[in-house]
Amino acid sequence: MFHSSHVGLTSYSPCGDPKGAFSLPADYIDAVADVGLEPSLLVGGDPRASLETIDGLLLSGGGDIDPGQYGGEKHETNYMVDPRRDSYEIELTRCALASGLPILAICRGMQILNVATGGTLVAHVPERFGSALEHRAPPREPVVHRVQVPADSRLSLTLATTDLAVMSWHHQAVDRLGTGLRVAATAADGVIEAVEFVQPRSVIAVQWHPELKGADDGRQRRLFAAFAECVQEQRRGRS
Ligand code: MN
Repeated sequence: MFHSSHVGLTSYSPCGDPKGAFSLPADYIDAVADVGLEPSLLVGGDPRASLETIDGLLLSGGGDIDPGQYGGEKHETNYMVDPRRDSYEIELTRCALASGLPILAICRGMQILNVATGGTLVAHVPERFGSALEHRAPPREPVVHRVQVPADSRLSLTLATTDLAVMSWHHQAVDRLGTGLRVAATAADGVIEAVEFVQPRSVIAVQWHPELKGADDGRQRRLFAAFAECVQEQRRGRS
């Protein structure tokens, strides 16, 4: 009998929504469904219970993480900070890592992964790295830039390249790496654009937005395909 593989996707905070609603751009859902996975939205509750019904976790983008979560200081550019979303996602990530659940972490999701493993964030990228390379267009729009992927990273095998164009849409970045993480991509200005564990291989984390079309789309799909492979493996292990 065929069992579909279920992916739980974290949703945007209702704090940033005019109606106070949970939401998530359809691009995430489409990208996941496109590689044969069954998507469902995670909106909070008990992190352990949330993980019981899924075979993979997609940590989505969104507003800034409360700097208090990593011993940082509030910054004037912080937006859409939601301590409830932060706590839920950090615990969700720790539980998923502990149980070996595959994770695809995107943008804020990669920052959550880093904070959940004890890392810190750069409060505002232009202040540290200058503005020669834009990581987001004003006021808050995506922009295309290239990233370099170390040839000895697992990410370069997944993408089958060491250089690609990405949709960038962030103003914060990974600073000190979380425990066990290593850099898997950087921008020309030095900003960390992807991280990975040596083990497990089932965690993919990128600072850019592979779900958005417009930059090396074929390569971006490889990330979702690799994630789907891990999720389906996890599903087979459960049944
Ligand atoms: Mn960027």
